[in-house]
Parts: sequence; C-alpha cells; structure tokens
Amino acid sequence: IINPVCTPTVTQELSENIILTTVDDLYNWARLSSLWPLLFGTACCFIEFAALIGSRFDFDRFGLVPRSSPRQADLLITAGTITMKMAPQLVRLYEQMPEPKYVIAMGACTITGGMFSMDSPTAVRGVDKLIPVDVYLPGCPPRPEAIIDAIIKLRKKISNDSIQERGIYKQTHRYYSTTHN
Ligand code: SF4
Repeated sequence: IINPVCTPTVTQELSENIILTTVDDLYNWARLSSLWPLLFGTACCFIEFAALIGSRFDFDRFGLVPRSSPRQADLLITAGTITMKMAPQLVRLYEQMPEPKYVIAMGACTITGGMFSMDSPTAVRGVDKLIPVDVYLPGCPPRPEAIIDAIIKLRKKISNDSIQERGIYKQTHRYYSTTHN
C-alpha cells in the first residue's frame, strides 16, 4: 500500500540522491562519447577529413580517435568516390567493424556518384547501395566544419538509439555482402 502522504517525500529523496537512467541512455552516452573513425579516404574529400584531424579543429574533443584497423573502429566516413572495383573491399571493411557501428557518407561522389554519375561506367551511384548509411553529408567537398556538424547529428541520432531496434535494423537492412561474391 502506498501512503500518498509519504510518496512525494520518497520521490524527492530519490531524485536528490540517485541518478535515474535507463540502460539505453547509459549505453548510448558511452557510444556517442567515444566514436572511433576508420581512416578511409578514396578521393579529394579525404583532404578535408585530414584537415579535421589537425589541431585547428580539435575533433578529439568529441572523443574521436582515428583508427587504421576496422576491428578498432565503430565509425566509417566514406570520403570520396566509390568505384565498383572497390565495393567488395569497402563492404569487407564494414563487416570487419564490430557492432554497434555507424556510417557517414561524405560528399556528392559517395552519396550519388557526384560528377561521375552521368557517364562513368565504374562509379557506384550511392554508397547506401552497398552498406547502410546513418548520416548523409552533401558537398563537393564538405568543409571540416560540416563534418563536425555531421558528427553532432550522428551523436544526436545515437542518443535516441535503442540497442534492441539497432539489432532489428541490422537484420532487416539488405546490403551488399562479400559472401555474395
Ligand atoms: Fe572530390 Fe567533390 Fe567527389 Fe568529394 S565530392 S570526392 S571533393 S569530386
């Protein structure tokens, strides 16, 4: 039996002394505070990403630590044109990244094929035909400030993520797999 007189006092005590949160919130906070991007540049867009790594933009403040191994990365920023020949390698790198993992498609070329979309027989018309994309970052090339904006948007998306839903998304999203080769 809950004493209606006592309830406000108990609630007040709890709010003052205990941090109430859900497992999702704690999990998401840890994930969005330590995104480790894989160094993956295929064309001129990567020059802007390289500038972002420098001290001027100080992107370490977001907890971002660039990695050279997909097994140590949970963020893939596809910076540049993706060709058909490169597609299996890109997918293999993505598959080697541990879950949970995220993708930012950076630049016109990686989002739609860009200037190669009209007549190139080898450019992939959108990296989302190969792997799931979380944030699209348009531009040719996007400036480092725009990459930071995309990372902030991704952090907001992660903060509303659910461990359970993320699993369902991965199972239902049909993407190109190296196992189809
Ligand atoms: Fe280069 Fe522009 Fe394509 Fe980026 S979007 S890879 S800057 S041509």
